[in-house]
Amino acid sequence: MIGVFALQGDVREHVAALRAAGAEAVPVRRPSELAEVDGLVIPGGESTVMSRLATVFELREPIRARIASGMPVYGSCAGMIMLASDVLDGRSDQESFGGIDMVVRRNAFGRQVDSFETDLDFEGVDGEPVHAVFIRAPWVEKVGSDVEVLARVSGGPADGRIVAVRQGNLLATSFHPELTGDLRVHDLFVRMVQEATDDRATEEAVR
Ligand code: GLN
Repeated sequence: MIGVFALQGDVREHVAALRAAGAEAVPVRRPSELAEVDGLVIPGGESTVMSRLATVFELREPIRARIASGMPVYGSCAGMIMLASDVLDGRSDQESFGGIDMVVRRNAFGRQVDSFETDLDFEGVDGEPVHAVFIRAPWVEKVGSDVEVLARVSGGPADGRIVAVRQGNLLATSFHPELTGDLRVHDLFVRMVQEATDDRATEEAVR
């Protein structure tokens, strides 16, 4: 079962995309709900608000602990910011969960260009390029050596900017696949959760 961090953001869209991709999906607002899930999606929204609410609802430390223990997490847009080890242009009291060794810049594409759409070649997603919708999106300025770059913008003023990454069981995109009806990024994450769950079952069986 996959949870969607549900204190703020486009929770419904991610729940619907996960279900369409064949997974069981539930909103997560409390530590007891987090404990029930095998993977977590952190939606798009506003990372400053997410950060504050994660503290108020006492989810920050439990989410960090699950990340450290290898639970798969997928963050889109604000969710990407929440998975970044370092955030540029954040509010001073903003605090991410971390997990991916990367520097992310909030609202990076410029305030005039609030949102735009483009097609991306996405490593690990077969077939047509992924049509990506960016809404006041971050980009990734720097990644550590353990981070795989899965997609970069091609062409235009943001040419070459990194917009999708993976580090171990953590996946992040600057854009919103939950808004386009293209399920391939959610499919990828559902497979990551399935593989992590299978690995854990094998470990327990041989113990
Ligand atoms: N600009 C938002 C932030 O900094 C992210 C926007 C989004 O998730 N669509 O958190």
